[in-house]
Amino acid sequence: MLKPLFDILSLHKKLISGTTILTPNRRLTAKIIEAFGQQQDSKAWACPRVYSIDDYALQCWQRHNLRGEVEPHWLLSPHQTLILWEQAIKACDEFYVSRPAATAKIAADAFNNIQRWQVDVSDYEQEFNDDVDCRAFLAWQKDFLNRCQRLTAFTPAMLSNALISFHQAQDKIAVERQADVVLVGFDVLVPQYQQLVELLFERVEQHVAPRKMRSLRAVSCDREEQQWLLCAEHFKRRLEENTELRLGLIVPELNQQKERVERCFMEVFEPQHLNNQHPRSTLPFNITAGDNLRALPVVNTAIDIIKLGREVIEVSALKRLLQSPFWQSAINSAGVHRLLRKLVAGSRGEIGASELLQQLQLIGDFEPAKQLSWMLLRAEEWRDKGRMRKPSKWLSLFQTLLTDACWPGPRPIDSVEFQQLEAFHLCLQSFHRLDDVSGEVGFDRALELLEAQLRLDVFQQQTYDGPIHILGALEGAGLCFDELWVSGMDDTQWPAAARPNPYLPIGMQTSLAMPHANASREYEVSRNLTESYFSASEEVICSFGCGEDESRLSMLFEQALTVPVIPMEQWSGVTQSLVWLHERIASDQAMTRLDDVASAITDASSVGGGSAIFKDQAACPFRAYAQHRLKARSIEHEEDGFSPLERGNGLHDALELIWSKLQGLEQLQEQSVESLGEMISHAAGVAVERRLMAKKQRPIARITALEQRRLERVLGQWMALEKQRSHFTIEALEHEQQVEFAGLPLTLRMDRVDRLNEGEVAIIDYKSGRVAVRDWLDHRLKEPQLPLYVCALEGQVPRVSSVLFGQVKLAACEYRGVSEHEAMAGVSLDNGNKAVVEQGDDWPSLVASWKQNLSALANDFLHGVATVDPKQADTCTYCDLGRLCRIAEVKSL
Ligand code: SF4
Repeated sequence: MLKPLFDILSLHKKLISGTTILTPNRRLTAKIIEAFGQQQDSKAWACPRVYSIDDYALQCWQRHNLRGEVEPHWLLSPHQTLILWEQAIKACDEFYVSRPAATAKIAADAFNNIQRWQVDVSDYEQEFNDDVDCRAFLAWQKDFLNRCQRLTAFTPAMLSNALISFHQAQDKIAVERQADVVLVGFDVLVPQYQQLVELLFERVEQHVAPRKMRSLRAVSCDREEQQWLLCAEHFKRRLEENTELRLGLIVPELNQQKERVERCFMEVFEPQHLNNQHPRSTLPFNITAGDNLRALPVVNTAIDIIKLGREVIEVSALKRLLQSPFWQSAINSAGVHRLLRKLVAGSRGEIGASELLQQLQLIGDFEPAKQLSWMLLRAEEWRDKGRMRKPSKWLSLFQTLLTDACWPGPRPIDSVEFQQLEAFHLCLQSFHRLDDVSGEVGFDRALELLEAQLRLDVFQQQTYDGPIHILGALEGAGLCFDELWVSGMDDTQWPAAARPNPYLPIGMQTSLAMPHANASREYEVSRNLTESYFSASEEVICSFGCGEDESRLSMLFEQALTVPVIPMEQWSGVTQSLVWLHERIASDQAMTRLDDVASAITDASSVGGGSAIFKDQAACPFRAYAQHRLKARSIEHEEDGFSPLERGNGLHDALELIWSKLQGLEQLQEQSVESLGEMISHAAGVAVERRLMAKKQRPIARITALEQRRLERVLGQWMALEKQRSHFTIEALEHEQQVEFAGLPLTLRMDRVDRLNEGEVAIIDYKSGRVAVRDWLDHRLKEPQLPLYVCALEGQVPRVSSVLFGQVKLAACEYRGVSEHEAMAGVSLDNGNKAVVEQGDDWPSLVASWKQNLSALANDFLHGVATVDPKQADTCTYCDLGRLCRIAEVKSL
């Protein structure tokens, strides 16, 4: 049997004598009881008096309640608390917030602090009144307390204060008090807990574990993940030497990092996990952070099925459902993909249930379509539009729909999925409790409540008590290990930055040392936690990612180091498992090497396209191959409001309208401020209206008005810049031209061509984001459009002597470009021309180098070069071909 995680010897006498032990959380309580149990010789023994402090307060309250000494109250669950806060926020007309559910969480935190620190708000009246957010909080709090009173309900923090008040009132007639209490694992004792234990016990003792640490080593890594890989490798070696060891890893912000940490440990302890045919084995590590239930794939599918009951169905939910392995129709992926294309291509983010049903009936005899139609009809049967029901009643309808849909599908589930289903059903049981606080609600609100409940409930996979424990920053306090690794200890993260609550006065939070109030409070908390890590093991290793910002080891660790910081390369046994895995894959006889070269194009006229071919080929050859030859497209749907593309198109339309009237600088300068303003306003209105006509559903009027105002502002700034230029007239607007370049027939569309003098023109490309001339100077050109025009139009009259980006962006309107001439008034040529000059190029040699680079790109495209080779780290960010090119798998190897 493995050693316990709590050093029970120091508490043994107290536990035997029946002294009460209080801890800050149930996890530490369980570990103390477990350690005590391991010491016992008999099979049954009296359970020691160990409780989390909130559970102990609740027990005391219930005892008084049973004796009729206090008014009965019930305890609100976290979800019930949030619902009441949300109701209070929504009911307040004076202080409007756009996201009441998110605000409710922060307000509930603020209220919890007020209760735990026993703040009398009237002592800080001025501070609360001086800040609008704090005033809003007071208004919401008043409503929240009224709601609690009507329901005769408490939050845990309110219950502790009620218990304190009860005991203070009874003190005079000597209410019973326990003799001793030992507090274990408290880094900071909040005023409420302090007062509570002083009232309930005669003597209070803090259990302080002595510093055990004998050796502290630090290792620096380039990247965050390397720390966890190193740690996993190190622990693996240690367990090979001694299987009895207890090892701990601390990861600050474990909830956010869980997936990455788990992947690193899987790579080391079960490298075969990449092969999904390989059965899951029992791994030697436990991670305390669970997944919220809503994020589990099997639960996700259940929610998507229930969403079929809505009058309007989210396209994203429909896509997920049709491709889910937890629904019976998840077969024939090519057919499902075709079905999705037909159903949702070009639609907004949502589609009406009746419209979807009609479209499905047109599709006819295709099994997934038939199944979906049947489900929609079933949903329609029980959906009673506008009918209000209590959450428990909705729940039984949700369950019927899931049963009818044969969820979770015909595929056999494994043990982890079985546990997930159990957790889901348990969560559904607690959903009944919302009847008391939410009253009757419509379908959409019931679904929203169910999703919120699932997000609050955490799924923790049942595993055997393995030798490695991966814990969050606060969870290591009070435990002990044979070796402890503390990751993420660079000076930018440890101590953490201050994050005061926005709904409480900052001065008050600082003076009372509330959580995250300021840097000194964070320092104090981090110092105490660091000391608790030093008490947890004789061997402590800490690691940190020095990364690009060249972070250093936190001073809290640096001052206790027993040897200098070790660079990662000098740490023994770097990622051996990965090396092994790569060798295995490389030596596998069944593997075939495929060249990333497709067949050459024999008929270039069949391809069609414009400068996008060059842009994609330069960004990533596979992207160009997939998009321009395979015609791979993701299923697109309209966004709410205006997408960046629609806003960009609106800008082009408006500028075309304005310049088709003005025709050049002279006419622009003749305009009065008023007439130019009217022209801009008219053009913006027409442009927005055109975008609206192209959309299936109009956004709400407020969004349309906002977009028009934004457009007017940016156009006003742009036209002011245009006035500063030297003479030009408009030669062409949104001009389309067929050309051939390097064997590729192309259709080029120029935003604008300005005539500068008799024989020369400038080509202009409008951009609504930031641009840089260096995007033209690499051999893999990031923005090949303008260089392509110059090369394709070479030899034509009038000749192109300048290419300019028109950066039409609020507060950053600017022309940037390259010109044969040294100066162009109103145009920033310095940077562009300087970069060119630095390269030793004049205009003719610049054009020649463009021709060479563009020809090379065209040549690669024509010859089928389709390598998965993104140009930069961020090239893949907005590319939706990731699942086709499998760049993630490429990177993970
Ligand atoms: S995701 Fe990245 S690697 Fe894949 S095609 Fe797109 S750019 Fe290329």
